Amino acid sequence: MADRKLIAGNWKMNGTHADLERFGAYAELAADAPQQVRVALAVPHTLLFSAAERAAGSRLGIGGEDCHANENGAHTGCVSAPMLHAAGASFTILGHSERRADQGETDADVKAKAEAALRAGLDLIICVGETEAERDAGDAESVVGRQLAGSIPECNPARLTIAYEPVWAIGTGRTPTVEDVAAMHDHIRSALAARFGEAGQGVLILYGGSVKASNAAELLSASNVGGALVGGASLKIEDFRPIVEAAA
Ligand code: PEP
Repeated sequence: MADRKLIAGNWKMNGTHADLERFGAYAELAADAPQQVRVALAVPHTLLFSAAERAAGSRLGIGGEDCHANENGAHTGCVSAPMLHAAGASFTILGHSERRADQGETDADVKAKAEAALRAGLDLIICVGETEAERDAGDAESVVGRQLAGSIPECNPARLTIAYEPVWAIGTGRTPTVEDVAAMHDHIRSALAARFGEAGQGVLILYGGSVKASNAAELLSASNVGGALVGGASLKIEDFRPIVEAAA
């Protein structure tokens, strides 16, 4: 497990078709990465099909940023897991804190979406993380433990990746100490082992929250950190490349 890393970018609500002109550089970055380092990008729904077409045959994984829990139906503006899969996604992010906050998603919602994603053939990146108030109150581990218990569906753990993203570190330039990251990742590992037994040892646990060139190597070296989920610094290849290189 320690010899495998995943660096996944999350473009969030950024990018139009014109930005896909730069995709070749991301595919090259994935191709040049050592075998044990995988590179992936989660992109807005509008870009998925073209992004997947451009990444076809390369080592760059393409995924969605969310999906609906239903396969189809009267859900105006929503996109289902089979739609993501048909558009070329191989995975989807679920339970990102921005969705938990902006769309009021609960752990039960995330679990239902995750079940739909698995049925459609998508692998999962499920996000968990505490707010600053919860950390200050000493509740970070219990909050994350509750999110893990409530959000992860019955599944083959080989299809599951967890992203630990403290809410207060996302897009703020602030990060926890490496010791705090290691402690939380160890806590998550214990929860996964309790849930999945030996197979829980193999689940990648990504760190996310203001990862950038200057802090990537240190964060990626912490105990049980199996890679990074990268928001802002995934938008430009010049910012993303050093993070991938740090994983190598
Ligand atoms: C994220 O949104 O998943 C994230 C980690 O964002 P940033 O890297 O910009 O903090």
